[in-house]
Amino acid sequence: MITAPKRHIVFASAAIFLVILAIAGLASFGSGALERTMIVFFVSLIGVAGIGVYSGNSGILSFGHVGFMGIGAYCASLLTLPVPLKTATLPNLPSWLATTQLDFVLATLIAVLFVGVVAAIIGAAIGRLEGSAATIATLGLLIIVHGVTIGWRDVTRGAQTFFGVPRETTLWTAAIACVIALIAARLYRDSISGLRLRAGRDNAIAANAVGINIQKERLVSFIVSAMIMALAGALLAHFLGAFSPKKFYFTDTFFLLSMLIVGGMSTVTGAFTGAVVITLITEILRRFESGFTLFGFEMPTIFGTTQIGIGLIILFAMFRKANGLAGLKEWEERLFDREISPQNAPTASQPIEEHTELQASGLVMQFGGLTAVNDVSFTLKPGEIFGLIGPNGSGKTTVMNMLSCVLKPTVGSVKLGDTELIGRKSNEVANFGIARTFQNIRLFPDLTVYQNVHVAALSTRQGKNAEARTYAALHRLGLLDRADEDSGTLSYGDQRRVEIARALACEPTLLFLDEPAAGMNREETDDLMETLRKLCAELGIGILIVDHDLKLINELCDRVAVLNEGKMIAEGTPEEVRNNPAVVEAYLGRSA
Ligand code: ADP
Ligand code: MG
Repeated sequence: MITAPKRHIVFASAAIFLVILAIAGLASFGSGALERTMIVFFVSLIGVAGIGVYSGNSGILSFGHVGFMGIGAYCASLLTLPVPLKTATLPNLPSWLATTQLDFVLATLIAVLFVGVVAAIIGAAIGRLEGSAATIATLGLLIIVHGVTIGWRDVTRGAQTFFGVPRETTLWTAAIACVIALIAARLYRDSISGLRLRAGRDNAIAANAVGINIQKERLVSFIVSAMIMALAGALLAHFLGAFSPKKFYFTDTFFLLSMLIVGGMSTVTGAFTGAVVITLITEILRRFESGFTLFGFEMPTIFGTTQIGIGLIILFAMFRKANGLAGLKEWEERLFDREISPQNAPTASQPIEEHTELQASGLVMQFGGLTAVNDVSFTLKPGEIFGLIGPNGSGKTTVMNMLSCVLKPTVGSVKLGDTELIGRKSNEVANFGIARTFQNIRLFPDLTVYQNVHVAALSTRQGKNAEARTYAALHRLGLLDRADEDSGTLSYGDQRRVEIARALACEPTLLFLDEPAAGMNREETDDLMETLRKLCAELGIGILIVDHDLKLINELCDRVAVLNEGKMIAEGTPEEVRNNPAVVEAYLGRSA
């Protein structure tokens, strides 16, 4: 379930527990005002961590999460409000609700679960949208929740103040809830779902290719994050005692998002950093806002000082630290490496059992008026290396995209044994035993080499023996000693090897490689050829390889097909193809 080393999780959780309780302990000696400030700080921190679970892991900024805070606040408050007060202020409540009065903890739990259900319904719809469309949809969500809260007078008192909520939120309840929320956010980040979602955030096409259903993981994170927001809302309601719909609208959204952006979206460390920085700045600027005396001069009152200050901090963060002050890593990930132990690496991987042929027939791909691929047919057998060559723009990558369901052909069929692949989603293909790499490298650059490969193993073949498969793939590509590095910082050659290791971790029967040697020097290319030969010989994998390096194609491939302007002009052994006049003409031009 959790993919980070146990040591990381233990350190992170212990630190959260100690830091939050230490802050609460110190605040408990302070004035009542300090105590109230710290309660608001803890509630904000829960809120930031909650938004971070969705936005940080998925990469989709959400404006809507404060809406869930509002739903949580109203829901919990309706359950704890004393019955006589309900009768007096909300006479039209349904009778089961009018006569219910629960204690704070139970009411909060129910509110959290209720919001989880609401989020499941909303998230199923929003999860279909990508990027900024999704962000706009969350903004719509905030406005709709606000509208419903104002309109539903019988239950919420509309725009009027909802009052009389028992003041149950103490410094210590807020602190304990904060510990729970932060640990939940931290665990989600390194759960299988969180890792898959971060992979999808880094590169959606590659995530699909290793079997990840990004929409599903988005929904999971949306529900978890909404539930954390509901907790924050319930606490805030029982701290304030009275509130109205505008408490859960743009102002608080702005504050929480500024914390998230300044601190860094994708980590709990970032949520904490952002909450501390913005709270401090707010507290300092608030004192200036009402006018102050500087060296005997009376400074005038300046409205909006706090907002302007926070705006400037956001700008500063964007210019100097686009990923937030904490960056993309948790503090303990910076301090401690993963525990990669080479003895975990199995010496031999299992040879594959199913041996199914891939049959592509009559593939045609039209992009508007351009026919990029025109009636291409061939067979790829397990255990053989099949080369696809041709000049730039001849349609090689397009063929590979059709075989792996990234593109749907205009006409044609791709059969794996008796199974038709055309029309399937690209995230299903990996589980049919097809894995691939990309011409323009598509790694998950913010994940380590190990995580890049591990997430693929976890998302294919029901995640069976995922760790062993990860080690085996890293071992084969000679990457064990680089496993801890961020994949985005490696050289091109190494990045290509990570891509192959990631594909291999899916335990494919067929492997498609789009220009795997591009960016490699001769020595690296020779190593790669050796590795690929072994994959065929030892595991029985069939390889489809596109490359410009004719030495590689000649020495490696059992059969070669040549594409020119989308048409297949020759097929045969490297020897036969080399001597084919049509191929010579395509490569050297008519003048030759
Ligand atoms: P190769 O991999 O052999 O260099 P490609 O398959 O990438 O060639 O491209 C074949 C042709 O199809 C090129 O003319 C290219 O511009 C065009 N093409 C590829 N992908 C698209 C796309 N998504 N939309 C429009 N045209 C495309
Ligand atoms: Mg190409």
